[in-house]
Amino acid sequence: MMLLLRPNCEWCDCDLPPESPDARICSYECTYCVHCVETVLHNVCATCGGGICS
Ligand SMILES: [Zn+2]
Ligand SMILES: [Zn+2]
Repeated sequence: MMLLLRPNCEWCDCDLPPESPDARICSYECTYCVHCVETVLHNVCATCGGGICS
């Protein structure tokens, strides 16, 4: 399944190119950078509460 990634982290709005190894996506396709996922969100989406997988 292809997931469409938005170009910016939804938390800090940093640039996240679709092929970036720093991009993370939640169960409902919200996009975050790995920094926010690990230090702020702790693998729980701030928008929808879904889990975030790499
Ligand atoms: Zn971020
Ligand atoms: Zn989400």
